[in-house]
Amino acid sequence: MHITSVSGYALSSPIEPVQERPFFGGTRRLRKRDVVLVVVETKAGHQGVATAGASSSAMREYFEGDSQGTFADVIETDVAPALEGESIDDIRSARDLLAATSLPAHLRTEAISAIDVALYDIRGKELGAPVYDLLAEEYETDPTTEIPLYASAGMYMEPEEYAEQAAAIESLGFFGYKYRPGIGPDGDRRTIDLLADALDETEFMLDTHTWWKLGNGYGRDTVRELVDHAAEQGAYWIEEPVEPADHDGYVELAETGAPLAGGESESSPAALTELGRTGGVEFLQGDARHHEGFTGCRDAIEFCAGREVEFVPHNFGTWLGLQANAHLVAAAPEVRLLEYPVFEDDPALGEAAVDSGMYPFELAFDIIEGRPAIEDGRLSVSDAPGLGVEVDLDVLEEYPFVEGPWTEFHYEGETA
Ligand SMILES: [Mg+2]
Repeated sequence: MHITSVSGYALSSPIEPVQERPFFGGTRRLRKRDVVLVVVETKAGHQGVATAGASSSAMREYFEGDSQGTFADVIETDVAPALEGESIDDIRSARDLLAATSLPAHLRTEAISAIDVALYDIRGKELGAPVYDLLAEEYETDPTTEIPLYASAGMYMEPEEYAEQAAAIESLGFFGYKYRPGIGPDGDRRTIDLLADALDETEFMLDTHTWWKLGNGYGRDTVRELVDHAAEQGAYWIEEPVEPADHDGYVELAETGAPLAGGESESSPAALTELGRTGGVEFLQGDARHHEGFTGCRDAIEFCAGREVEFVPHNFGTWLGLQANAHLVAAAPEVRLLEYPVFEDDPALGEAAVDSGMYPFELAFDIIEGRPAIEDGRLSVSDAPGLGVEVDLDVLEEYPFVEGPWTEFHYEGETA
């Protein structure tokens, strides 16, 4: 493929009115969600798309960094000049072209992630094949295009509210209900008990996003006690119970026998595999949008295959990012489950007793034409060429970028 243009667009989906969410030790403010859309075009007239700047729930730079607007600039100033005019046969060679730029490591990784996904989209369109077919050929697997989803929802609510959401998610047929605790040790314990009671078929997972350690955290003993309690009550996994870089902390907690999950915050494909290697997690959460695309996730997936650690993609963002990770799940060996973030008024979900949406994120839906085929908690991956979706470029007009941080944390005792 001969690359003629690479563009990056920073977009914002406002959360209006701004939301205040109290948690143990502080308040979180939610203003908007940012997305960077990357579009690659070839001489033959094919267009490949991807989102960049995948959110990671525990990376300090993600929460404390200014915004993702700067990443769209990086696409224009560094990525486009490195790729435009190049002919690429082997998609992996794009990585080498980007590695030769002077970008700092974290931006290079983000760039490689988006470009890898967009080039697979193009290659699929060139060949008239869905991306999962290309990946299945590489992995020598038979693709599975019906994918069980777990719903990623609840954040900082009353225990009873989490339980209501969980029941609604079960009524929609999802494999699991994942929520963000952090309302205090007693409230978190009560939530675990209520969920264990409320759910029948549907599993529950805790995404603690290191919350128990940040700010006025719970302290090590309390974290251990809560992890233990969650495991005893049948939690399917406990995610990021310690800081991402604290691999020893994972290993120590895993000794309790509790099923732990982590990986989304790892800064590179090598670091992701390394976390798997520690034995500290039973679920390794790589992300095609963050760990250098389909190519970058391959090492971790192959590490997990045949071992007691399951690769379950981290996937929190738009329906475009969902497609990327869905193609990976469809093709990769021993990978079967996918995260489905639930935002308010999700048009792909049926009626339920309560709306389990975490907050409004309309751009997450509007970024593509149509909607994903979800029924009874399962996603059918489209067999259309490439990623199988069309980006709706109207979003460039409809969701102008808004400067400033998307979320802020205010800790008790801190001066404003
Ligand atoms: Mg997470």
